[in-house]
Amino acid sequence: MFTLISYKRLGKPIILLFSQKLMFMAGIYIHIPFCKHKCNYCNFFSVASIKYRDVFVDALLREMEMRKDYLKNELVHTIYFGGGTPSLLTIDEINTILAKANTLFNINADLEITLEANPDDLSLDKTEDLKRYTPINRFSIGVQSFFDDDLHYLDRQHNGTQARHAIENVQKAGFNNMTIDLIYGIPGLSLEKWHKNLDIFFDYHIPHLSSYSLTVEPKTALQHQISKQKRAEVDEELSIRHFEILLERIAQNNYVHYEISNFAKKGFYSKHNSIYWLGDHYLGLGPSAHSFNGHSRQWNVAAIKKYIDSDMVDKMVAEKEVLSVNQLFNEYVMTSLRTSWGCDLEHINNVFGSSYTAFFTGSVKGFIKEKKIIQNGNRFVLSKTGKLFADGVAADLFVDDDF
Ligand code: SF4
Repeated sequence: MFTLISYKRLGKPIILLFSQKLMFMAGIYIHIPFCKHKCNYCNFFSVASIKYRDVFVDALLREMEMRKDYLKNELVHTIYFGGGTPSLLTIDEINTILAKANTLFNINADLEITLEANPDDLSLDKTEDLKRYTPINRFSIGVQSFFDDDLHYLDRQHNGTQARHAIENVQKAGFNNMTIDLIYGIPGLSLEKWHKNLDIFFDYHIPHLSSYSLTVEPKTALQHQISKQKRAEVDEELSIRHFEILLERIAQNNYVHYEISNFAKKGFYSKHNSIYWLGDHYLGLGPSAHSFNGHSRQWNVAAIKKYIDSDMVDKMVAEKEVLSVNQLFNEYVMTSLRTSWGCDLEHINNVFGSSYTAFFTGSVKGFIKEKKIIQNGNRFVLSKTGKLFADGVAADLFVDDDF
């Protein structure tokens, strides 16, 4: 299936080659919007109550039915339970949701099924039951730090010991595919402590790491606490130093830095997140989840009651945006530059045409001179310095609306 989009500048449609590839990779994201407690830095949609939990699963199954044609029978390679806290789901709920997906979508036999989990939910009994009774085959554990004072700063409910036990329990239960999240840039996270967090990660031989700089999002409790001087301010210089250390240690330990915040041993790249980074199609289910089909993006309502009461897809969708060629180009530049595969000039030429190629070639020159981007033939990748300014560099390579 090819997606034809109007290519205004040449006055003729072009074939999105990117979309041609999309036939082979699609994913389903399922947002589980419950948490035991709201962490101060978090701006994901979730509620600290399980009041609507039973009816929520029914609503989710209903949404799956209503949107079963969204992926147009494309082969689904990944299902990702994100949140919120998907590890609050029971074995029965997980299996009911997956069984429904199996009846409605074209599911690949070799399916990656990830469950995001909080350390305090991962007892040995629970992980063994998940292994024995569900097809979950990958965990994403929200460790954030192995130090209690950092976890206290972030208002997390677990402690460092629980984080270690969670990893050990997942491994004991027989899961070999797992990632953990570690946050750097936390005030009080000294360089020594950051090294120690990474030591623990390497010592467990975990095959994948997602590591992010602490960002103080608007309207979060953390922003309020900082403004009231109840929490220390985030120090950007410290954060940059942490990132530099991370890159050094990751390289020394033979992990591939395949996306700006993601690191993996060969064979353990996140298939699901790669769908986002490579511009593939995905269906997002649950409140606040978003979906992309190659030319438009849509967001579900970020409200539990409204979501549960929606008996039609239109009532569930809060916003829909059809992407222009310029937006698709900018998204390609942004996501590809964040990956180790980089931005491909041939792809730009094939998909977007010669004027975009000329624009990119002209605007990237300055960054090559500043040594923020390295050119390897037709591919452009961020240098070590460039990675520190990834979003800013990409934004400077965007075309304007009136291009
Ligand atoms: S557990 Fe995760 S999703 Fe829930 S509030 Fe904390 S950071 Fe947000």
